[in-house]
Amino acid sequence: MRKYKIAVIKGDGIGPEIIDEAIKVLDAVSVKEGFELSYHEYLMGGAAYDVYGDPLPEETVEGAKNADAVLFGAIGGEKWDNLPREKRPETGLLKLREALGVFANLRPVTVYDELINASTLKPDVIKGVDLMVVRELIGGIYFGKPRALEKDKAYNTMIYTKDEIKRIAKVAFEIAKKRKNRVTSVDKANVLEVSQLWRETVEEVSKDYPDVKLEHMYVDNAAMQLIRDPKQFDVILTGNIFGDILSDEASMLSGSIGLLPSASIGEKYGLYEPIHGSAPDIAGQGIANPIATIASASMMLRYQFGEEKAADRIENAIKRVLKEGYRTKDISSFDAKEIVTTNEMGSLIAQYAAQD
Ligand code: NAD
Repeated sequence: MRKYKIAVIKGDGIGPEIIDEAIKVLDAVSVKEGFELSYHEYLMGGAAYDVYGDPLPEETVEGAKNADAVLFGAIGGEKWDNLPREKRPETGLLKLREALGVFANLRPVTVYDELINASTLKPDVIKGVDLMVVRELIGGIYFGKPRALEKDKAYNTMIYTKDEIKRIAKVAFEIAKKRKNRVTSVDKANVLEVSQLWRETVEEVSKDYPDVKLEHMYVDNAAMQLIRDPKQFDVILTGNIFGDILSDEASMLSGSIGLLPSASIGEKYGLYEPIHGSAPDIAGQGIANPIATIASASMMLRYQFGEEKAADRIENAIKRVLKEGYRTKDISSFDAKEIVTTNEMGSLIAQYAAQD
């Protein structure tokens, strides 16, 4: 039997509630598709600081490295906001990403027909949007050296090596092959040398993928096109800072932060998490939307374990609950037939995902 070991990091705020629902759904599909999952829980963020005085204990890094994938909820909250940077929950997450070498952040954006009115954009602009942002996650200006904040001057360095560009480009082309065979590489090659190297290197990599159509777009234009005509995109490939901004912009096409999953993958490891934070304002009330986390678990099955059928089951079950009008509170104003709790939403998706 196929067996996979999952390191589970629930985190803070709504993290534990939404992860429990994802596990419920994973259990349902694994039984159906004949593979076995084992879960090992570790602490990170505020929850880890409270126990160890450290937002990322060594035990968590080891556990994550010994697992086949990491499923993560969210971290953070006011309680830990005034700690020094090194001790803050967010530092734990950044360090974990670095320790796992997860250089590619994948963010799919799907606009569900049933929630088309949840977006601030016109329905005819977003109907049918289905795109994936592939963002380089551990290089570029966020990590480049030299960097400094001096009295009257401050600077950062945007730096990419050819190898860093190649490996992220390969991820984007491989994903495009499983989608609609189109990659839009986003840069600022009209101004930045680092973007010139980016463009040349992506061109080189594209030669290995003759069936995938490649186009280049400047980041300012891409920001505009995402709002003007988002349906033109399949896979958007870009660097760290541009990807940070564009992926948040793209996420808003769907209208609700509680729906969108993400994956961060590297040569060896994969970290799967919703794009939202720990939502302390609604924690413990049973109203958090677990769909983003459940969809992240589905990405884990697809991209880390190659369990495509189980992943399809989850995605179809999510579409079905939305079609039937089940809504958590955050999306309750859009064609709701019944408002359900976090737990009920998870149970419905698990039930539908297990049906034939
Ligand atoms: P947030 O994403 O936690 O919440 C923003 C708003 O969206 C809130 O009103 C919240 O109630 C709502 N929301 C978020 N997820 C939801 C869900 N699943 N269902 C229903 N509603 C949902 O962002 P924030 O309020 O800016 O940050 C809260 C804390 O989360 C902070 O400590 C921040 O540092 C942390 N954070 C963590 C991550 C992460 O763990 N990856 C990401 C972003 C923010």
